[in-house]
Amino acid sequence: ATENKAVITLFGATGDLAKRKLYTALFKLYQKGYLAEHFALLGTSRHDYTDEEFQELVRNSIKDVEESRDGEAADFSKHFFYKAHDVTKPEHYTILKERIEELDKQFGTEGNRLFYMSMAPQFFGTIAMNLKKQGLLSDDGFNRLVIEKPFGRDFDSAKKLNDALSQTFDENQIFRIDHYLGKEMVQNIQALRFGNTIIESLWNNRYIDNIQVTLSEKLGVEERAGYYDQSGALRDMVQNHIMQIVAQLAMEQPVSFTDTDVRVEKIKALRSLRVYTPSEAAANFVRGQYDAGDGTEAYRSADGVDPESGTETFVAAKLLFDNYRWSGVPFYVRTGKKLADKFTRIDVVFKKPLIDIFADPRNESDQSLNSNVLTIFVEPKSGFAMQLNAKRAGQGFTTQPVDLKYLQSDSDKKESPEPYERLFHDALEGNHTNFASWAEIAYAWKFVDVIRKLWDIEKPQFPNYTPGSMGPAASDELLARDGRKWVYRL
Ligand code: NAD
Repeated sequence: ATENKAVITLFGATGDLAKRKLYTALFKLYQKGYLAEHFALLGTSRHDYTDEEFQELVRNSIKDVEESRDGEAADFSKHFFYKAHDVTKPEHYTILKERIEELDKQFGTEGNRLFYMSMAPQFFGTIAMNLKKQGLLSDDGFNRLVIEKPFGRDFDSAKKLNDALSQTFDENQIFRIDHYLGKEMVQNIQALRFGNTIIESLWNNRYIDNIQVTLSEKLGVEERAGYYDQSGALRDMVQNHIMQIVAQLAMEQPVSFTDTDVRVEKIKALRSLRVYTPSEAAANFVRGQYDAGDGTEAYRSADGVDPESGTETFVAAKLLFDNYRWSGVPFYVRTGKKLADKFTRIDVVFKKPLIDIFADPRNESDQSLNSNVLTIFVEPKSGFAMQLNAKRAGQGFTTQPVDLKYLQSDSDKKESPEPYERLFHDALEGNHTNFASWAEIAYAWKFVDVIRKLWDIEKPQFPNYTPGSMGPAASDELLARDGRKWVYRL
């Protein structure tokens, strides 16, 4: 492993995300040698901590990670330092600046600086501005900014945020986290497509009938209810994660597998996504909110949720790309809380043979052939399956669907880094492949804004689905209208 040298400044160092994900991710990079002697992390938040107390917080956060040698966690935590800081007070940045410069010298980080914003998004602009104004950026190494979701609430607020960040950082210095892009099987979309003639040569509207993307959650809103009620599934899942997955499925082959070339193709794909008129959007989007049932309370009864809430906990939609490859092929997407199970999967449904020579010509309802389906299992199981038609064993001649299947072994899974580990490493390496660019985010918001505006005006008939189902009936009707069905259904 090549060591990455940097001082990481973490805003929101005492927050939930930092404690649950970020310290573990850094510790794993340390265990693998990507972080070694030459790194330090300066944590900051409103709380008062000493360096020792902060190091203890870090050790507590990583206590479930197996140590590969004695004292590893303790050694790791010695790279962590802390300064209390109110991000709205310009004078506080001077304190951070001095500390960063000391740590740079002490740890020999060659002027490399990574700023990670893991706090409420309303502060992102202010922090970025002050980093520049108060002179926290270095002149000799790199300066990079990693920022958490959500990136705006709509196109206008996202643009405002981006404009604010752009005052300090260039696009190639900004790393916008979309943790779905850190998932092994999402990255595998590219390997599967561009590494296999038998797949990529069929990857178009001549052979594909439709593509389905499902991000299904079993849990409800739990502790994040207050946040969620202001956001909803459209903003929380569709605008970012689903659009990023869809872009990878729809994009053309990049010239090379580098961040610049991949980015160009993703942007091009999203540019050809049809932005609906309001009436088209109304026809092609479905929203839902879960009721009580299956032993749980209704969304509206959750703590922190408005009892009259019109926030959607489920979205299904049909997307269309107006380009040569995809014209006429719908992409159906759905996501929701309190659904039957927790999983993420992609189903690519191929067209049936034009003529079914096995069917009885005198009996029109005798349709023996199934569509070929390529399923990419993203999580919790990782792998893919291809459904083919084969002869059913025995006398006579009928066909049945059979599966060619590859599932990652447990040892492969152990090898796969968690999304935050991978993304942290990519940011330290300066590799943008698995981050969302501003242009992609802008197109995604423009697409989503049309339906958001409509839904904000029209009062929904909520609740409309039961926990443990796969969402409201309208989600099935969205496909039935086109003579299709969800591949995964109950
Ligand atoms: P949190 O509320 O748990 O933590 C916020 C942190 O910011 C705390 O350390 C707090 O002290 C600090 N802070 C707040 N106001 C401050 C101020 N004025 N000055 C200095 N520090 C201040 O939040 P979180 O759940 O850790 O989320 C952090 C970011 O990550 C958010 O952008 C969130 O949307 C995103 N995110 C979180 C999760 C998650 O699972 N928690 C998942 C995805 C994205």
